[in-house]
Amino acid sequence: MIQSVCILGSTGSIGQNTLDVIARHPDKMRVYALTAFSRMTALAHQAHAAKAQVVVVPDDEACAQFKAAWQFEMTCPEIRLGKEGLISVATDSAVHTVMAAIVGVACLEPALAAAQAGKRILLANKESLVAAGHIFMPAVRDNGAVLLPIDSEHNAMYQCLPTEAQISAPLQPYKTIERLILTASGGPFRDLEPRLLQAVTPAQACNHPNWSMGRKISVDSATMANKGLEVIEAHWLFAMPAAQISVVVHPQSVVHSMVEYTDGSILAQLGQPDMRTPIAYGLAYPERIASGVGLMDLLQLGSLEFSPPDYSRFPCLKLAFDALNSSQAACIALNAANEIAVEHFLQEKIRYTDIATIIAHTIDQIEKQSYDLTTLGAVLDLDAESRRIAECYSHSLSSIH
Ligand code: NAD
Ligand code: MG
Repeated sequence: MIQSVCILGSTGSIGQNTLDVIARHPDKMRVYALTAFSRMTALAHQAHAAKAQVVVVPDDEACAQFKAAWQFEMTCPEIRLGKEGLISVATDSAVHTVMAAIVGVACLEPALAAAQAGKRILLANKESLVAAGHIFMPAVRDNGAVLLPIDSEHNAMYQCLPTEAQISAPLQPYKTIERLILTASGGPFRDLEPRLLQAVTPAQACNHPNWSMGRKISVDSATMANKGLEVIEAHWLFAMPAAQISVVVHPQSVVHSMVEYTDGSILAQLGQPDMRTPIAYGLAYPERIASGVGLMDLLQLGSLEFSPPDYSRFPCLKLAFDALNSSQAACIALNAANEIAVEHFLQEKIRYTDIATIIAHTIDQIEKQSYDLTTLGAVLDLDAESRRIAECYSHSLSSIH
């Protein structure tokens, strides 16, 4: 059977890497649907090259741009619009596998719809789990969906599990796991003097030493908010309490993460820092296929280093651990405030060091009340409220600078 794939967020970094892997295996998989929020010409070229049958674009204006960009002899794919369009392709009966690679909480609704439709979900997006793991994971379980982590750390840990523990949404941690150890590169400012951090620019923050990624996750990697989101992601994916998740800084980025067992063994997955490896793993699971990633030369690498993260340099990581230990509301606020703060930093409206301040302020405000977050609507309302608080505080900071 040929696997039919829908890529949510195909023009992004993960989306492009997914298309690259799929194109290497025309005998095993093909693209059914692609979606993008901007860059309609790029989407048209992707849809043409992959022979996609459906594309999803945000609105009528984007639809017109897509049609104008379609200069090919092949018939133009069916075009669907907006959030309903995303949900329709994520649940389409013609689709086996949904690659969830939209950035931010915008991925939540289509990814959740895919879970409810019992799809095989390759989850690159982490913000959905941070905001709504308590809704998403039961939806996977209750509808027989298959969930494969694509984020390189979680994919690595998944690869280090025995087959019987490779469960899509476990209710409890696997019995012999002592600890999950996430590796972090430390990003571009790992060794920068902390007093210089407030003057760093978006271009410097996006210049990651090892990985090439979208702009939001690149800033998240620099602040280590990304690692914080990943701690919460690991909590949901592996049903693991925060106390059994730790983070080590590993500048070479070749040990993608580790699982420590009761007998003292630590299992690790190593490879080049290239997202096509976890993407190929997810697409082919339980088999393995060529990904286009070159083999790793251990001898050239020489040595591997590990050190503890410095919370004074990376306050966002501490904020994430605290949010996970505190409440789901705090996790939603953390994620929403981070999205707003990163956007404002990328637009040069606030300083790099304001990102953590905005997150901390938003969590403080949100935690003044208690919330019933059992429904998706309640989660999205709190997400919107957190964004309002973060926006407002961010404006007050930008007027000071
Ligand atoms: P990106 O910014 O490169 O691409 C994002 C994609 O989502 C684009 O196709 C864009 O058009 C689409 N999009 C953006 N906003 C949207 C909206 N409101 N509605 C619908 N579509 C929208 O991002 P990326 O780096 O590919 O990351 C995607 C996700 O994968 C993120 O959640 C990120 O944390 C996660 N992730 C990325 C990497 C990586 O190496 N890039 C690694 C691990 C996890
Ligand atoms: Mg990661």
